Amino acid sequence: MKKIGVLTSGGDAPGMNAAIRAVVRKAIYHSMDVYGIKYGYQGLIDGHIEEMEIGSVGDIIQRGGTQLYSARCNEFKTDAGQEKALAQLKKHGIEGLIVIGGDGSFRGAQKLADKGFPCIGVPGTIDNDIAGTDFTIGFDTALNTIIDAIDKIRDTATSHERTYVIEVMGRNAGDLALWAGLADGAESILIPEAPDEFDNVLERLKRGHARGKKHSIIILAEGVGSGIEYGQRIEEATNLETRVTVLGHIQRGGSPTAADRVLASRLGAKAVDLLRNGQSGKMVGIQNNQLVEHNITDVVAERNEINHDMYKLANELSI
Ligand code: ADP
Repeated sequence: MKKIGVLTSGGDAPGMNAAIRAVVRKAIYHSMDVYGIKYGYQGLIDGHIEEMEIGSVGDIIQRGGTQLYSARCNEFKTDAGQEKALAQLKKHGIEGLIVIGGDGSFRGAQKLADKGFPCIGVPGTIDNDIAGTDFTIGFDTALNTIIDAIDKIRDTATSHERTYVIEVMGRNAGDLALWAGLADGAESILIPEAPDEFDNVLERLKRGHARGKKHSIIILAEGVGSGIEYGQRIEEATNLETRVTVLGHIQRGGSPTAADRVLASRLGAKAVDLLRNGQSGKMVGIQNNQLVEHNITDVVAERNEINHDMYKLANELSI
């Protein structure tokens, strides 16, 4: 294989740039040509395709977002859209494609693989919600952004003796909330995978208040419901002054942590190796600090499980 393409798709995540850099440099190291495809599958259909050089990815390893931009593209979900994409790849002489994104993006990559075009997926999403890998690119950075925000909220929460509900990202996945809750000693962690009874949350709050706790932090993944509504319910039920912070898109941005840069570099390079070895329809991942590969069809069919021991521990430590 002499010519490959790379694109980023779906929700962006810090560390995607480090992954692009790794793909480009690793391919050039092996004397391959690399093409950057802008705006995800939309740009592939529309032909936003440019050759990349060693210098094209200089000074981006530390930047959040994605230099190739990302997009959502409904046309690519259709057979006609996929055929247009294949025609563009053929026109540029591209023989293999690396897709950095989440499970939706992988479903798209699998469609091309099913049509005989070699595709490899690299997991990039802050949600850490992809089966077959312990971590996704962007999760560690988003987690640290949340911790930084909660630490600041904690200062003001203590000064005013308030209860705080913090809504974090995670529509179907509670990993950000779970890890943030454990890292920040939250009273309660509400995640889609393990909905806690409202009464338990109240019980914990009241217990803490009775023993003179100055503040309480409740972390809620967005998939559980609205943080604002939850805060109102808490205030009505406890009479404790309750404030809500919805962290929103700050969780997506920022310079990637060292862990994310290293992960992105390893996974991006591994993806190039798989294409060089003639593989297709695979996702690269990391498990027990070893690089692994799994069939995309298996990865998207499986539900990513949270670590239930960690959830139990967080509850034990918040007595
Ligand atoms: P993520 O990759 O972050 O999960 P999305 O679910 O929005 O993000 O998917 C990103 C893009 O991948 C979609 O806009 C679409 O172009 C493509 N895609 C998603 N699902 C499919 C599918 N079943 N078939 C083809 N393409 C898909």
